[in-house]
Amino acid sequence: MTQTADNAPVVELDHVNYEYTTKNSVVQAIKDIDLTINQGDFFCLVGPSGCGKSTLLKTIAGYIEPTSGESRMENEIIKGPHWKRGVVFQSATLYPWLTVRKNIEYGPRMRKQSKEEIKESSDYYLEQIELSDFANHYPFELSGGMKQRVSLARVLANKPKLVLMDEPFSALDAITRLKMQDFLRVLWKKNNQTILLITHDIEEALLLGTKVAVMSKNPGTIQSVFSVPYSEKVLNDKEYRIEEDSEFMKQKYAILKAIS
Ligand code: ADP
Ligand code: MG
Repeated sequence: MTQTADNAPVVELDHVNYEYTTKNSVVQAIKDIDLTINQGDFFCLVGPSGCGKSTLLKTIAGYIEPTSGESRMENEIIKGPHWKRGVVFQSATLYPWLTVRKNIEYGPRMRKQSKEEIKESSDYYLEQIELSDFANHYPFELSGGMKQRVSLARVLANKPKLVLMDEPFSALDAITRLKMQDFLRVLWKKNNQTILLITHDIEEALLLGTKVAVMSKNPGTIQSVFSVPYSEKVLNDKEYRIEEDSEFMKQKYAILKAIS
């Protein structure tokens, strides 16, 4: 696999617009989006409900094509879905008839990797999501947080260049959600992964992202992109408490104000 140099652009959006055309109306969901996501970025996108976050993610995933403008990944125009762009949704997307291990191995198997390679990578990701003991369990035997971890491992096992996450934790209870955030932060760092995560939760964006982009409503445009240090602070300093960080609070309210 080719290595992308640190900070090299992975995704670039150039004046991207998207309009949904229905029987009675045309809805412009996103307007004139310019955006660059670099190698190693944990790029969080926040904005109110209905502002076009999912639409933006879908254009990057290649599920829909921009009405105008261009989205590129590593200098190639994005046309259709590709395993290099792994997508994690709000609810876990697992095959109920396959075990946890077989779910994780599904992508690599489809791509006809060797048996040894497949086993090695599923062992690795099972360990990373701390579910090695559940390898032979079925999805219905797992909690919501566990299922979401398997969904993530399933995507990571394809070794995607970019992981796209659309409100991945919003269906989880508060405690599981905090654990998943910690877990994802560590995984991002360990694998030097590039991530785009969409959330309506400003605190989640600030706590995870290296960059936080703020979207405004109707039609969705990117208002501003902040570089934020909190994810690194949490990783590097066990004593760090956001509640005691006045900068964090200030930034949170600045974003809240920008959105509303
Ligand atoms: P978000 O993810 O930020 O909540 P969406 O991207 O889902 O926002 O939606 C943006 C806008 O596009 C909304 O006004 C929504 O009603 C509209 N929209 C989304 N999907 C469709 C669709 N399939 N057909 C028509 N309009 C849609
Ligand atoms: Mg959405």
